[in-house]
Amino acid sequence: MQVPAPLEYERATSVDHAIGLLERLGDSARLVAGGHSLLPMMKLRLATPEYLIDINDLHAQLGYIKVEQTQIRIGAMTRHRELLESEALADTFPIFRDAERVIADPVVRNRGTLGGSLCQADPSEDLSAVCTTLGASCVIRNSGGERVVTMEEFHRGPYETAVGDAEMLVEIRVPIRGNGSSAYEKVERRAGDWAIVSAGAAVWLDGGVISDARVGLAAVGPNTTGLPAVSEALRGREPSEEVYQLAGDLAARHCSPATDTRGSADYKRHLAMELTRRALRRSVARLNGRV
Ligand SMILES: Cc1cc2nc3c(=O)[nH]c(=O)nc-3n(C[C@H](O)[C@H](O)[C@H](O)COP(=O)(O)OP(=O)(O)OC[C@H]3O[C@@H](n4cnc5c(N)ncnc54)[C@H](O)[C@@H]3O)c2cc1C
Repeated sequence: MQVPAPLEYERATSVDHAIGLLERLGDSARLVAGGHSLLPMMKLRLATPEYLIDINDLHAQLGYIKVEQTQIRIGAMTRHRELLESEALADTFPIFRDAERVIADPVVRNRGTLGGSLCQADPSEDLSAVCTTLGASCVIRNSGGERVVTMEEFHRGPYETAVGDAEMLVEIRVPIRGNGSSAYEKVERRAGDWAIVSAGAAVWLDGGVISDARVGLAAVGPNTTGLPAVSEALRGREPSEEVYQLAGDLAARHCSPATDTRGSADYKRHLAMELTRRALRRSVARLNGRV
């Protein structure tokens, strides 16, 4: 049986309390949210915190999906199940429900959180790809106040983020723009598994022409990857199979997959191409009311 090393444990009663504990205990302490990434790492001794600060009692404070005029604000403790079941979120950003349908299983989705997913910074993480696709930003709090960073600034490398030792991710903000839709496509080895490759797409139309498009890929680089080259190539074009193929080819060219037990780099590049095409096609079909 795998068991974590001995540790001290405390439940935070507020965000300030959690940050205060982090300040006092330094890098020997870790926050635990759903625990579905951290606890397996502790059992394998890949993480050996001396103190665990449990933030699950902060769900009342940080578990929310708030729709505003220009953005949706999602609290860091919002659980996968809540993201999956939110009609308001699916209405504006169907990509969230697409992704949640293929993340893990109900046991993981009942506990795992958006904040924990982004902070884990696993290159295969589906919600990071979703947030990258949508151009989300992350609100990080410390005892001095808050700062807001883009997804590109948030992920600094595999398993590394902009969140400092005495800081906490508290909110994710997703900008709302008119006449847009989105979709997520994933290929995994078996239901509920991590992605071999996945692709998110978001498209905005103006008079039948693509005014903007974004693609985010997971599992084909050191972090989930946004593809500015696709956005540049698609702006001003009419949606068509030719345009989806162009985007797919660019996605394959601009990603950097590694050969591993999930597949060869060539296979993953092919998936990046195909899944980008499919996600763009589905986003546009949704915009045209065909899905
Ligand atoms: C069997 C299994 C299958 C899975 N399949 C998938 C999958 O298909 N796709 C996928 O994307 N994910 C998958 N996951 C991961 C799952 O989505 C986790 O829920 C998620 O990665 C981490 O969320 P958590 O709330 O459990 O974080 P935790 O494990 O509690 O924390 C993860 C890290 O984030 C830090 N942290 C947590 N919250 C904060 C915060 N608010 N501020 C700062 N730091 C914070 C912790 O200190 C820790 O370092 C799977 C997990 C399991 C166990």
